[in-house]
Amino acid sequence: MLISESSGNIRIGNHTFRKDFIVIAGPCAIESREQMEEIAEELILRKVFFLRAAPYKPRTSPHSFQGLGEEGLAIIRELKAKYPLHVVGEIVDSRDLPVYNDLFDIIQVGARNMQNFELLKALGKAKRPVLLKRGFGSTVEEWLHAAEYLHKYGNREVILCERGIRTFEPQTRNTLDLSSIVLARNHTELPVVVDPSHAAGRRDLIASLSFAAVAAGADGLLLEVQVDPDSAWSDARQTISFSEFDRILQVLKKLAPLFGKKCD
Ligand code: PEP
Ligand code: MN
Repeated sequence: MLISESSGNIRIGNHTFRKDFIVIAGPCAIESREQMEEIAEELILRKVFFLRAAPYKPRTSPHSFQGLGEEGLAIIRELKAKYPLHVVGEIVDSRDLPVYNDLFDIIQVGARNMQNFELLKALGKAKRPVLLKRGFGSTVEEWLHAAEYLHKYGNREVILCERGIRTFEPQTRNTLDLSSIVLARNHTELPVVVDPSHAAGRRDLIASLSFAAVAAGADGLLLEVQVDPDSAWSDARQTISFSEFDRILQVLKKLAPLFGKKCD
């Protein structure tokens, strides 16, 4: 089985998942080169070296912003040449794999594609680690089976990502399932990253859910952050400002070491 054969210590640059606490931050979607450069500079100032950068957005409504597509890929190419950042981005079509291998340091599979088995098989051949989001209607077992697809088809570098599941509670977009972090850590060696942004759907919960995720054993966070969150073209309500991000980082520096992770 997957899990015992993988060490989980995925290394990217100077960072090792499960030893270091990894913070991945950035906007919901790439909107412009200026926006991404501004965010890249803010992250580097804070010694955060993993940038969230989504050129394609799988949206519930076809009328919502779908991402900049190829223009977004060109922006990432420029950013990579200019900044020492590791870029994490969602793939929605396996035909894009060659360009994702070239441009991204971690390839994200979104919640809606967790059981897109042909995409998972194709990503078995990816040259990059895959960050596999849990489907919002998927059990922990189904999530781990999806990880096994990647493994079986050749990719042992899988990072699990809990992003909340759909429940009857209307005050949050989803419900962050803290148990799944513990279960995934108990049943696998794979690192587990937590996305409180898509779980909560509202920015006032992001800090508390982030800290709870650390205490549940998370190896990292995926956070939606913008310079001017209210102006975000998608997911503005859950996107935090850099001042809130600073507050979270300050606490993480103290909290993560208590749970065995380096965070500097
Ligand atoms: C995202 O992280 O950009 C995203 C769309 O999240 P999810 O797939 O978890 O809904
Ligand atoms: Mn989003």
